[in-house]
This record gives sequence, structure tokens and C-alpha cells, in this order.
Amino acid sequence: MIVVLTGGTGGAKFAQGLMRVLPARELTFVVNTGDDFRWWGLPVSPDLDSITYALADLLSRDRGWGVEGDTFHCLEAMERLGAPMWFRVGDRDLATHLMRGQLLAAGKTLSAATVEITRRLEIEARILPMTDARVETRILTPEGELSFEEYFVRERYQVPVEGVRLKGIEMAQPAPGVLEAIETADVVLLAPSNPITSIGPILAVPGIRKALAETPAPVGAVSPIVGSRAVSGPAGALMQLQGLPVSPEGVARFYADFLDVLIADERDASALRGVSVSDVRFHCTQTLMKSLDDKVQLARAAVESTRQAQVVG
Ligand code: GDP
Repeated sequence: MIVVLTGGTGGAKFAQGLMRVLPARELTFVVNTGDDFRWWGLPVSPDLDSITYALADLLSRDRGWGVEGDTFHCLEAMERLGAPMWFRVGDRDLATHLMRGQLLAAGKTLSAATVEITRRLEIEARILPMTDARVETRILTPEGELSFEEYFVRERYQVPVEGVRLKGIEMAQPAPGVLEAIETADVVLLAPSNPITSIGPILAVPGIRKALAETPAPVGAVSPIVGSRAVSGPAGALMQLQGLPVSPEGVARFYADFLDVLIADERDASALRGVSVSDVRFHCTQTLMKSLDDKVQLARAAVESTRQAQVVG
């Protein structure tokens, strides 16, 4: 069993590779829910949705979010009615939020609602939200607090950030199955997701970081930083804010207490020579996922180099 901790964008591309390398029933995804928010009154889970669409082969190829070939009639109608528009929801995507809303209103937990949705989409991999509790990633700016989606989508991460806080994290428990999956995994992987706002909230759920440190499974992470920049998004600025160098070494430091292998880009191979972060080993390969082939190769390299770490000890 391979357990993958993941956010949305980088994680969804990585999931598309993994599902072609391993049987789906051997994959468990533990997904960030700190980005979850209500939109037009509906519960939206952006990272759960991206992973779900990736595994159902529904993810839009051009946009990297939402459903391939979706239309936006409802969005246009909502605009005419004066509703906010900055978060774009396609018509088929909307069906997922409606269904999730119905299941939650009927008393199901987020993890039970996720099981229902993935079953109906005939996904064989297991998708677990990090928690069933409400945890909100709040971005602190000079103008006040924003939800993650307000910061990321509405403000296009162009506002200065003073801090990040995870509202509700102290009371959160890992969703059913999360700790057991980590404890009994053969391999644990961290997707090339934003360390601070995608993987960070998962690690902050009480018990998860400890389970990663204690699992007998080797743990590997793919760096979302290539050279001194994030491949996309605000990971660089947010890492800097936490006092971390914006580099694969900075990613390794953030995960050092439980990480065995950091899968970094081949362009960073010379910079990483001689670098030492606890017992973390660096494995350099091509990590940019442009084509399906890139995704498959990265997935294979991540699984193999992490498995190897256990053999080497
Ligand atoms: P979010 O929830 O939408 O923010 O998505 P993630 O956290 O899963 O993904 C965003 C992260 O993925 C960013 O930090 C990017 O640098 C990283 N990323 C995106 N595409 C790639 C890629 O092709 N290769 C690597 N190594 N990282 C990537």
C-alpha cells in the first residue's frame, strides 16, 4: 500500500502518474482540507476535488482544475444575478459540490461523503480528507485575514503575507483510517505540493506528524521547488516567511523529522552535493510534469527511490 499526502495542483498531476504506475486499489491519498470553503452556499473542497477528478480521469487538461470540457452556464447565470464570480465553478464541477452538500446535510461526515462520491465515480483508489473537522487555512495580510482561496484565487497571491494560521487545528482529529494507513503503509510519499499551505495543514493535524516519524515505512517527498523558485504558486514566499531557504534543501529541512528521501530536480544535483539535512537522502531526477510521460516517470522514480531507502536502511 502506498500512502500519498497531497494538496491540489501539484498533487493531482502526481496522482495522474501514480495511477498509471500502480494498481489503483494500492493507493491511498490523504488530502489537505484547509482550503475548504463555502461558495454560493455550497461546501467546496478544492484539493479533494482535484484529486478526485485526476483519479476519475476527469481533470481539465488545460486548466489543471475542474472538469475537462466543462461548461459555465450556471456561472454566467449567477453573474446576471449579481453573485460573486472570482471562484469559477463549471456546471459538472457544480454537481460535485451539490452532491457533497446533500450528503453533509444528511448527516454524513466529510470522509463518508468522499467515499460516496468516489464510489459513484468508480474510483478504486482511496481518498481520505486529512480530518472531518473544520480546519481553515487563514492568510494574515496587512489588510486583515483571508481564506486560502481568497488569497490564492481572488488576490492571485499578490498581497503581502504576514503569517499563516490554521483555524480549528487544535481540536481536529485525523479522519478515520488516516493514522492506520500511515502506520501500515509500505511506502509514504509527499506529493510536490505547497509545503506550507497544502502539506503543512495535514502535518499539523494532531497525531499525523508523529505517525510519519514512527511508521516503519520509508517516507519520500517530491520537491515543489526547483532551483530557488516554486514551479508555480506562492510556496516560495510562504517558505521564506517561515524562515526556510527557498530550495530543495529548505523543503528537506521542513520535513526533516520524518523524511527519508527528497526527490529533487536534476538541475539541483550539483547544488545539493555536500548538503546534509539530518538523515535525508537526495535523489535527483526530472521533476517537471508537463506531459503524461513526465508524470509517469516521476511517479516511478519517487516510488522506487523511496522503496530503496528502506533496503539501504
Ligand atoms: P494547491 O492546493 O492547488 O496549492 O496545490 P498543491 O499544493 O498540490 O500544488 C502546488 C505546488 O505544486 C506548488 O508549490 C508548485 O511548485 C508545485 N508544482 C506544480 N507543478 C509541478 C511540477 O510539474 N513539478 C514539481 N516538482 N512541482 C510542481
